[in-house]
Amino acid sequence: MILAWLRRGRRPAAIPIDAQLWRRATAPWLFMRGMSEVESQRLRSLCERFLAIKRFAGTHELAVSEAMRVEIAAQACVLVLELGIEWYDGWSDVILYPGQFMPEREVEDEAGVVHVTRDPMAGEAWLGGPVILSYEDVALAGDKRARVAGYNVVIHEFAHKLDMRNGEPNGFPPLHRAMDARAWKRAFSEAYEDFVRRVEAAERLPGRRGQAALDKLPIDPYAAESAAEFFAVGSEAFFETPELLAPAYPEVYGQFRLFFRQDPLARLKASRAT
Ligand SMILES: [Zn+2]
Repeated sequence: MILAWLRRGRRPAAIPIDAQLWRRATAPWLFMRGMSEVESQRLRSLCERFLAIKRFAGTHELAVSEAMRVEIAAQACVLVLELGIEWYDGWSDVILYPGQFMPEREVEDEAGVVHVTRDPMAGEAWLGGPVILSYEDVALAGDKRARVAGYNVVIHEFAHKLDMRNGEPNGFPPLHRAMDARAWKRAFSEAYEDFVRRVEAAERLPGRRGQAALDKLPIDPYAAESAAEFFAVGSEAFFETPELLAPAYPEVYGQFRLFFRQDPLARLKASRAT
């Protein structure tokens, strides 16, 4: 009796993903460019395990289809393709809103006055809690005609999750033993300072010229918000637009390559050469 109950209660180790669905769900995304058939199949197996350990829920009557789960799993799992699914241990829920959501937050200003804010958000990752995503924003990155290259809310929020493996997100995830923490810090702080300067210079330009300068930046200007956001936005660029990130910030690209144990730029170049 107890055994039967235990068996029923246990989740399967993997939820199989149909080969056709896998191809359909992953074809449009930039991060899949140049991926070999072998890598794609490894990513698929990882997603099958991801789907077995994470629960998906839609809010506001959003129906979460199998294809939606698979495309989100693929983006989440590409980050840990060479790290292991254990990097996502310790939490279980992925919550989808149909569009951007506006959580009420209490923010204390410099004078100590508490304000209630409601800012629209495309995604959010909680320390030890769920990943929350606006499905409209998820779908945008997979839309060849409408997307802004390098914008990927799923990769962004799951990068925060990796950063949170050692506490509050600060752009400093737990590094591998062979990595040099000083080299990481140097690469990221120099690039971050440079990027903040470039964003500020662009914002000082009037109207359309300012916008044009922001559009020309190698990564999303949102990266200038904090070291944690620079890491998350940088991760989006590493997987989605490595051809822009690597020449702009080669040291950061090199550290990302050591951390994720992948080289999306080499992947891309090799696929173009054949
Ligand atoms: Zn963020």
